[in-house]
Amino acid sequence: MVNLPKKIQIDAILGEEFYKLLDKLGVREGFEAGNYHCHICGDKIEVKNVLIVFPLCENDVGFICRKPECITRYKLNLPIE
Ligand SMILES: [Zn+2]
Repeated sequence: MVNLPKKIQIDAILGEEFYKLLDKLGVREGFEAGNYHCHICGDKIEVKNVLIVFPLCENDVGFICRKPECITRYKLNLPIE
């Protein structure tokens, strides 16, 4: 039996939970097509760099990437440049 580093296992679980969330929100197709970008910096959002999902309007959601400055700006609710 191979001992995988814990981090990889956690990431795998998060990935699956994340896709379930996208399904629930109805945005999985757009996400997989690469249509979503970080609400702060504009980087393309992928499973590997997504950190926060938040409701944007009735049928859409916004994403925040893992960059510390994006997380800080989101939490402080600073205006987007
Ligand atoms: Zn960002």
